[in-house]
Amino acid sequence: MEVAVSPEHPASSRGNRPRFAPDNGFRKRLDERVAAYFADTGRSPHGGWRMRLKTASMLAWFGASYAFLVFVASTWWQGVLGATSLAFAIAGIGFSIMHDANHDAYSKHKLVNRLLERTLDMLGASSYIWRWKHNVFHHTYTNVEGADNDIHLLPFARLAPTQPRRRIHRFQHLYMWALYGFTVYHMHFTEDFLNVKRGKVGPHHFPRPRGLRLFEVFASKAFVLAWSLAIPMFFHTWWVVLAFYASLWFAVGIILGVVFQVAHCHDEAPFPEPDPVTNRIDNAWAIHQVETTADFAPHNPLITWYVGGLNFQIEHHLFPKICHVHYPRLAGIVQDVCTEFGVRYTQFPSFVSAVASHGRMLRRMGTAPDALPAAAATPAAAA
Ligand SMILES: [Zn+2]
Repeated sequence: MEVAVSPEHPASSRGNRPRFAPDNGFRKRLDERVAAYFADTGRSPHGGWRMRLKTASMLAWFGASYAFLVFVASTWWQGVLGATSLAFAIAGIGFSIMHDANHDAYSKHKLVNRLLERTLDMLGASSYIWRWKHNVFHHTYTNVEGADNDIHLLPFARLAPTQPRRRIHRFQHLYMWALYGFTVYHMHFTEDFLNVKRGKVGPHHFPRPRGLRLFEVFASKAFVLAWSLAIPMFFHTWWVVLAFYASLWFAVGIILGVVFQVAHCHDEAPFPEPDPVTNRIDNAWAIHQVETTADFAPHNPLITWYVGGLNFQIEHHLFPKICHVHYPRLAGIVQDVCTEFGVRYTQFPSFVSAVASHGRMLRRMGTAPDALPAAAATPAAAA
Protein backbone atom coordinates (compact mmCIF):
# COMPACT_ATOMS: atom_id res chain seq x y z
CA MET A 1 0.00 0.00 0.00
CA GLU A 2 1.32 3.43 -0.93
CA VAL A 3 1.31 5.68 2.11
CA ALA A 4 4.56 7.60 1.64
CA VAL A 5 3.02 11.01 1.54
CA SER A 6 5.39 13.92 1.65
CA PRO A 7 3.96 17.36 0.89
CA GLU A 8 3.32 18.65 -2.55
CA HIS A 9 6.33 19.98 -4.44
CA PRO A 10 5.00 21.22 -7.78
CA ALA A 11 7.94 21.82 -10.07
CA SER A 12 6.60 25.24 -11.01
CA SER A 13 6.87 26.39 -7.42
CA ARG A 14 10.43 25.32 -6.64
CA GLY A 15 12.33 28.50 -7.45
CA ASN A 16 15.42 29.12 -5.34
CA ARG A 17 14.09 27.50 -2.21
CA PRO A 18 16.04 25.62 0.44
CA ARG A 19 16.65 21.94 -0.12
CA PHE A 20 16.94 19.25 2.49
CA ALA A 21 19.62 16.65 3.13
CA PRO A 22 18.86 13.20 1.68
CA ASP A 23 16.97 10.67 3.76
CA ASN A 24 19.16 8.71 6.17
CA GLY A 25 16.73 5.81 6.35
CA PHE A 26 14.37 7.52 8.80
CA ARG A 27 11.69 8.32 6.23
CA LYS A 28 12.00 4.89 4.66
CA ARG A 29 11.55 3.17 8.02
CA LEU A 30 8.55 5.34 8.88
CA ASP A 31 6.89 4.56 5.57
CA GLU A 32 7.51 0.83 5.99
CA ARG A 33 6.12 0.77 9.54
CA VAL A 34 3.04 2.85 8.66
CA ALA A 35 2.36 0.83 5.52
CA ALA A 36 2.60 -2.35 7.64
CA TYR A 37 0.09 -0.88 10.12
CA PHE A 38 -2.48 -0.28 7.39
CA ALA A 39 -1.79 -3.65 5.78
CA ASP A 40 -2.13 -5.50 9.12
CA THR A 41 -5.30 -3.73 10.18
CA GLY A 42 -6.86 -3.64 6.72
CA ARG A 43 -7.84 -0.02 7.31
CA SER A 44 -7.95 2.68 4.68
CA PRO A 45 -5.68 5.69 5.29
CA HIS A 46 -8.71 7.90 4.59
CA GLY A 47 -11.59 8.86 6.88
CA GLY A 48 -14.48 6.45 6.32
CA TRP A 49 -17.62 6.45 8.44
CA ARG A 50 -15.96 8.25 11.34
CA MET A 51 -15.31 11.28 9.15
CA ARG A 52 -18.77 11.17 7.63
CA LEU A 53 -20.30 11.16 11.13
CA LYS A 54 -17.95 13.90 12.26
CA THR A 55 -18.73 16.04 9.23
CA ALA A 56 -22.46 15.68 9.80
CA SER A 57 -22.02 16.55 13.50
CA MET A 58 -19.85 19.59 12.82
CA LEU A 59 -22.16 20.95 10.11
CA ALA A 60 -25.22 20.35 12.33
CA TRP A 61 -23.44 22.14 15.20
CA PHE A 62 -22.74 25.06 12.87
CA GLY A 63 -26.30 25.17 11.54
CA ALA A 64 -27.93 24.91 14.97
CA SER A 65 -25.66 27.60 16.46
CA TYR A 66 -26.33 29.95 13.55
CA ALA A 67 -30.08 29.38 13.66
CA PHE A 68 -30.17 29.95 17.42
CA LEU A 69 -28.04 33.11 17.18
CA VAL A 70 -29.90 34.72 14.29
CA PHE A 71 -33.48 33.49 14.64
CA VAL A 72 -33.95 32.66 18.33
CA ALA A 73 -31.62 34.67 20.58
CA SER A 74 -33.33 37.77 21.96
CA THR A 75 -31.23 38.66 25.02
CA TRP A 76 -27.55 39.53 25.26
CA TRP A 77 -26.65 36.32 27.12
CA GLN A 78 -28.41 34.16 24.53
CA GLY A 79 -26.50 36.04 21.86
CA VAL A 80 -23.17 35.43 23.60
CA LEU A 81 -24.02 31.76 24.03
CA GLY A 82 -24.97 31.38 20.35
CA ALA A 83 -21.95 33.32 19.08
CA THR A 84 -19.53 31.34 21.27
CA SER A 85 -20.98 28.07 20.06
CA LEU A 86 -20.87 29.28 16.44
CA ALA A 87 -17.23 30.43 16.77
CA PHE A 88 -16.15 26.99 18.01
CA ALA A 89 -18.19 25.27 15.30
CA ILE A 90 -16.58 27.40 12.58
CA ALA A 91 -13.07 26.68 13.86
CA GLY A 92 -13.96 23.00 14.22
CA ILE A 93 -15.03 22.80 10.57
CA GLY A 94 -11.70 24.35 9.60
CA PHE A 95 -9.69 21.93 11.76
CA SER A 96 -11.61 18.74 11.08
CA ILE A 97 -13.18 18.91 7.62
CA MET A 98 -11.54 21.55 5.45
CA HIS A 99 -7.98 20.79 6.56
CA ASP A 100 -8.16 17.05 5.81
CA ALA A 101 -10.07 17.53 2.56
CA ASN A 102 -7.61 20.15 1.33
CA HIS A 103 -4.75 17.71 2.04
CA ASP A 104 -6.60 14.97 0.08
CA ALA A 105 -6.68 12.99 3.34
CA TYR A 106 -10.45 12.98 3.88
CA SER A 107 -11.44 10.64 1.07
CA LYS A 108 -9.89 8.57 -1.70
CA HIS A 109 -12.27 10.35 -4.07
CA LYS A 110 -10.78 13.63 -5.28
CA LEU A 111 -14.22 15.04 -5.94
CA VAL A 112 -15.21 14.58 -2.28
CA ASN A 113 -12.02 16.31 -1.14
CA ARG A 114 -12.53 19.20 -3.57
CA LEU A 115 -16.13 19.56 -2.46
CA LEU A 116 -15.40 19.54 1.27
CA GLU A 117 -12.39 21.83 1.04
CA ARG A 118 -14.95 24.41 -0.14
CA THR A 119 -16.14 24.61 3.48
CA LEU A 120 -13.26 27.08 3.79
CA ASP A 121 -14.66 29.23 0.96
CA MET A 122 -18.00 29.05 2.75
CA LEU A 123 -16.20 30.56 5.75
CA GLY A 124 -14.72 33.39 3.70
CA ALA A 125 -11.19 32.26 2.78
CA SER A 126 -9.94 30.74 -0.45
CA SER A 127 -9.32 26.99 -0.29
CA TYR A 128 -7.19 27.31 -3.43
CA ILE A 129 -4.81 29.80 -1.80
CA TRP A 130 -4.83 27.83 1.46
CA ARG A 131 -3.55 24.79 -0.44
CA TRP A 132 -0.49 26.72 -1.58
CA LYS A 133 0.08 28.62 1.63
CA HIS A 134 -0.42 25.69 4.00
CA ASN A 135 0.08 22.40 2.13
CA VAL A 136 3.00 23.49 -0.01
CA PHE A 137 4.90 26.31 1.69
CA HIS A 138 4.20 25.77 5.40
CA HIS A 139 4.33 21.97 5.27
CA THR A 140 7.54 21.91 3.26
CA TYR A 141 9.55 24.67 4.96
CA THR A 142 8.21 24.48 8.50
CA ASN A 143 9.87 27.08 10.77
CA VAL A 144 12.34 28.15 8.06
CA GLU A 145 12.47 31.94 8.27
CA GLY A 146 11.72 33.53 4.91
CA ALA A 147 10.08 30.40 3.53
CA ASP A 148 7.34 29.50 6.05
CA ASN A 149 4.75 32.24 6.06
CA ASP A 150 3.21 30.96 9.32
CA ILE A 151 6.16 32.35 11.28
CA HIS A 152 6.11 35.71 9.51
CA LEU A 153 3.98 37.97 11.68
CA LEU A 154 6.27 40.99 11.48
CA PRO A 155 6.03 43.79 12.45
CA PHE A 156 3.60 42.64 15.14
CA ALA A 157 5.51 39.63 16.46
CA ARG A 158 8.98 38.20 16.31
CA LEU A 159 8.76 34.42 16.05
CA ALA A 160 12.24 33.44 14.83
CA PRO A 161 15.69 34.46 16.11
CA THR A 162 16.77 35.86 12.75
CA GLN A 163 13.80 38.23 12.57
CA PRO A 164 14.50 41.81 13.67
CA ARG A 165 13.39 42.69 17.18
CA ARG A 166 11.45 45.84 17.91
CA ARG A 167 10.84 47.43 21.28
CA ILE A 168 7.15 46.51 21.16
CA HIS A 169 8.06 42.81 20.94
CA ARG A 170 8.97 42.90 24.65
CA PHE A 171 5.24 42.74 25.24
CA GLN A 172 4.31 40.25 22.52
CA HIS A 173 3.71 37.48 25.07
CA LEU A 174 0.91 39.68 26.42
CA TYR A 175 -0.73 41.10 23.31
CA MET A 176 -0.32 38.39 20.66
CA TRP A 177 -3.18 36.31 22.09
CA ALA A 178 -5.55 39.12 21.17
CA LEU A 179 -3.82 39.92 17.87
CA TYR A 180 -4.48 36.37 16.66
CA GLY A 181 -8.09 37.51 16.67
CA PHE A 182 -7.43 39.70 13.64
CA THR A 183 -6.14 36.86 11.44
CA VAL A 184 -9.58 36.02 10.06
CA TYR A 185 -10.32 39.64 9.10
CA HIS A 186 -6.96 39.58 7.32
CA MET A 187 -7.94 36.41 5.42
CA HIS A 188 -11.37 37.79 4.58
CA PHE A 189 -10.46 41.28 3.44
CA THR A 190 -6.80 41.57 2.49
CA GLU A 191 -4.62 38.46 2.37
CA ASP A 192 -6.32 36.52 -0.43
CA PHE A 193 -6.71 39.63 -2.61
CA LEU A 194 -3.07 40.64 -2.10
CA ASN A 195 -1.87 37.13 -2.90
CA VAL A 196 -3.89 37.06 -6.13
CA LYS A 197 -2.72 40.54 -7.12
CA ARG A 198 0.95 39.78 -6.44
CA GLY A 199 0.85 36.19 -7.68
CA LYS A 200 2.77 35.35 -4.51
CA VAL A 201 2.16 33.83 -1.11
CA GLY A 202 4.71 35.52 1.12
CA PRO A 203 7.98 35.28 -0.80
CA HIS A 204 6.79 32.40 -3.02
CA HIS A 205 5.31 32.65 -6.49
CA PHE A 206 2.24 30.52 -7.07
CA PRO A 207 -0.06 30.06 -10.07
CA ARG A 208 -2.80 32.66 -9.76
CA PRO A 209 -6.31 31.22 -9.61
CA ARG A 210 -8.15 31.46 -12.93
CA GLY A 211 -11.69 30.94 -14.14
CA LEU A 212 -13.95 29.32 -11.56
CA ARG A 213 -11.22 29.32 -8.91
CA LEU A 214 -10.74 33.07 -9.30
CA PHE A 215 -14.49 33.63 -9.17
CA GLU A 216 -14.60 31.59 -5.95
CA VAL A 217 -12.04 33.86 -4.28
CA PHE A 218 -14.44 36.80 -4.67
CA ALA A 219 -17.60 34.74 -4.15
CA SER A 220 -16.30 33.41 -0.81
CA LYS A 221 -16.05 36.99 0.51
CA ALA A 222 -19.52 37.90 -0.69
CA PHE A 223 -20.94 34.67 0.73
CA VAL A 224 -19.46 35.08 4.19
CA LEU A 225 -20.61 38.70 4.37
CA ALA A 226 -24.08 37.61 3.31
CA TRP A 227 -24.62 34.97 5.99
CA SER A 228 -22.67 36.50 8.84
CA LEU A 229 -23.59 40.17 8.34
CA ALA A 230 -26.34 40.91 5.83
CA ILE A 231 -28.94 38.23 6.73
CA PRO A 232 -28.78 38.91 10.50
CA MET A 233 -29.48 42.60 9.72
CA PHE A 234 -33.01 41.62 8.71
CA PHE A 235 -33.69 40.28 12.20
CA HIS A 236 -31.68 42.50 14.56
CA THR A 237 -30.55 46.11 15.02
CA TRP A 238 -27.60 46.96 12.79
CA TRP A 239 -25.18 47.88 15.57
CA VAL A 240 -25.94 44.69 17.50
CA VAL A 241 -25.26 42.64 14.35
CA LEU A 242 -22.04 44.55 13.73
CA ALA A 243 -20.86 43.94 17.29
CA PHE A 244 -21.64 40.22 17.09
CA TYR A 245 -20.10 39.94 13.61
CA ALA A 246 -16.84 41.53 14.83
CA SER A 247 -16.75 39.44 18.03
CA LEU A 248 -17.56 36.18 16.25
CA TRP A 249 -14.70 36.37 13.75
CA PHE A 250 -12.34 37.76 16.37
CA ALA A 251 -13.01 34.69 18.54
CA VAL A 252 -12.55 32.36 15.55
CA GLY A 253 -9.20 34.04 14.84
CA ILE A 254 -7.99 33.44 18.39
CA ILE A 255 -9.04 29.77 18.37
CA LEU A 256 -7.41 29.12 14.97
CA GLY A 257 -4.29 31.17 15.75
CA VAL A 258 -3.56 29.51 19.08
CA VAL A 259 -4.19 25.91 17.94
CA PHE A 260 -2.07 26.29 14.80
CA GLN A 261 0.76 28.24 16.46
CA VAL A 262 1.40 26.15 19.58
CA ALA A 263 2.49 23.15 17.51
CA HIS A 264 5.48 24.94 15.94
CA CYS A 265 6.21 28.00 18.06
CA HIS A 266 6.99 26.61 21.48
CA ASP A 267 9.98 27.18 23.72
CA GLU A 268 11.91 24.15 22.45
CA ALA A 269 11.24 24.70 18.75
CA PRO A 270 14.24 25.14 16.47
CA PHE A 271 14.22 27.52 13.49
CA PRO A 272 16.78 25.89 11.17
CA GLU A 273 18.53 28.02 8.57
CA PRO A 274 19.76 26.83 5.20
CA ASP A 275 23.48 26.95 4.54
CA PRO A 276 24.16 30.35 2.91
CA VAL A 277 26.32 28.82 0.17
CA THR A 278 24.53 25.57 -0.69
CA ASN A 279 21.03 26.72 0.38
CA ARG A 280 20.66 23.30 1.99
CA ILE A 281 19.19 22.46 5.39
CA ASP A 282 21.30 20.04 7.44
CA ASN A 283 18.50 17.63 8.24
CA ALA A 284 16.55 15.35 5.95
CA TRP A 285 13.02 16.63 5.35
CA ALA A 286 11.23 14.12 7.61
CA ILE A 287 13.59 14.75 10.54
CA HIS A 288 13.17 18.50 10.04
CA GLN A 289 9.39 18.05 10.27
CA VAL A 290 9.55 16.10 13.53
CA GLU A 291 12.02 18.45 15.20
CA THR A 292 10.18 21.66 14.28
CA THR A 293 6.81 20.33 15.43
CA ALA A 294 5.20 19.26 18.71
CA ASP A 295 2.20 17.19 19.72
CA PHE A 296 -0.05 18.14 22.63
CA ALA A 297 -2.75 16.55 24.77
CA PRO A 298 -2.30 13.12 23.11
CA HIS A 299 -4.51 11.38 25.67
CA ASN A 300 -7.40 13.82 25.51
CA PRO A 301 -10.00 12.35 23.12
CA LEU A 302 -12.19 15.47 23.20
CA ILE A 303 -9.34 17.73 22.07
CA THR A 304 -8.22 15.14 19.49
CA TRP A 305 -11.76 15.08 18.10
CA TYR A 306 -12.26 18.84 18.11
CA VAL A 307 -8.93 20.00 16.66
CA GLY A 308 -9.04 17.36 13.92
CA GLY A 309 -5.84 15.64 15.06
CA LEU A 310 -3.85 18.88 14.98
CA ASN A 311 -2.67 17.90 18.47
CA PHE A 312 -0.83 15.07 16.63
CA GLN A 313 0.89 17.64 14.49
CA ILE A 314 4.10 15.59 14.13
CA GLU A 315 2.17 12.71 12.59
CA HIS A 316 0.24 15.18 10.45
CA HIS A 317 3.42 16.78 9.09
CA LEU A 318 4.90 13.37 8.30
CA PHE A 319 1.71 11.96 6.80
CA PRO A 320 -0.49 14.87 5.70
CA LYS A 321 -2.41 12.68 3.26
CA ILE A 322 -3.49 10.24 5.94
CA CYS A 323 -6.74 11.21 7.64
CA HIS A 324 -6.37 12.51 11.19
CA VAL A 325 -8.55 9.77 12.70
CA HIS A 326 -5.49 7.48 12.42
CA TYR A 327 -2.95 9.76 14.09
CA PRO A 328 -3.32 8.50 17.70
CA ARG A 329 -2.40 4.99 16.45
CA LEU A 330 0.44 6.25 14.26
CA ALA A 331 1.97 8.26 17.12
CA GLY A 332 3.38 5.14 18.81
CA ILE A 333 4.99 4.04 15.55
CA VAL A 334 6.51 7.48 14.95
CA GLN A 335 7.86 7.60 18.51
CA ASP A 336 9.46 4.16 18.09
CA VAL A 337 11.20 5.18 14.87
CA CYS A 338 12.32 8.49 16.40
CA THR A 339 13.89 6.62 19.31
CA GLU A 340 15.62 4.24 16.89
CA PHE A 341 17.11 7.11 14.85
CA GLY A 342 17.77 9.49 17.78
CA VAL A 343 15.30 12.11 16.52
CA ARG A 344 13.87 14.48 19.13
CA TYR A 345 10.11 14.02 19.57
CA THR A 346 8.40 16.84 21.49
CA GLN A 347 5.08 16.25 23.18
CA PHE A 348 3.20 18.44 25.65
CA PRO A 349 0.94 16.50 28.02
CA SER A 350 -1.93 18.97 27.78
CA PHE A 351 -3.23 21.85 25.68
CA VAL A 352 -2.59 24.21 28.60
CA SER A 353 1.07 23.18 28.81
CA ALA A 354 1.47 23.76 25.05
CA VAL A 355 -0.14 27.20 25.34
CA ALA A 356 2.15 28.04 28.28
CA SER A 357 5.15 26.98 26.20
CA HIS A 358 4.01 29.24 23.35
CA GLY A 359 3.78 32.11 25.85
CA ARG A 360 7.30 31.46 27.13
CA MET A 361 8.59 31.33 23.56
CA LEU A 362 6.92 34.65 22.70
CA ARG A 363 8.45 36.23 25.80
CA ARG A 364 11.93 34.88 25.11
CA MET A 365 11.82 35.86 21.43
CA GLY A 366 10.57 39.31 22.34
CA THR A 367 13.52 40.03 24.60
CA ALA A 368 16.40 38.01 23.11
CA PRO A 369 18.95 39.98 21.06
CA ASP A 370 18.84 39.82 17.28
CA ALA A 371 20.62 36.89 15.66
CA LEU A 372 21.86 37.64 12.17
CA PRO A 373 20.71 35.21 9.50
CA ALA A 374 23.44 32.86 8.35
CA ALA A 375 23.69 34.59 4.97
CA ALA A 376 24.38 37.94 6.64
CA ALA A 377 26.66 36.50 9.31
CA THR A 378 28.99 34.64 6.97
CA PRO A 379 30.93 37.55 5.38
CA ALA A 380 31.57 39.06 8.80
CA ALA A 381 32.71 35.71 10.16
CA ALA A 382 34.98 35.21 7.15
CA ALA A 383 36.46 38.67 7.61
ZN1 LIG B 1 -1.78 20.61 7.34
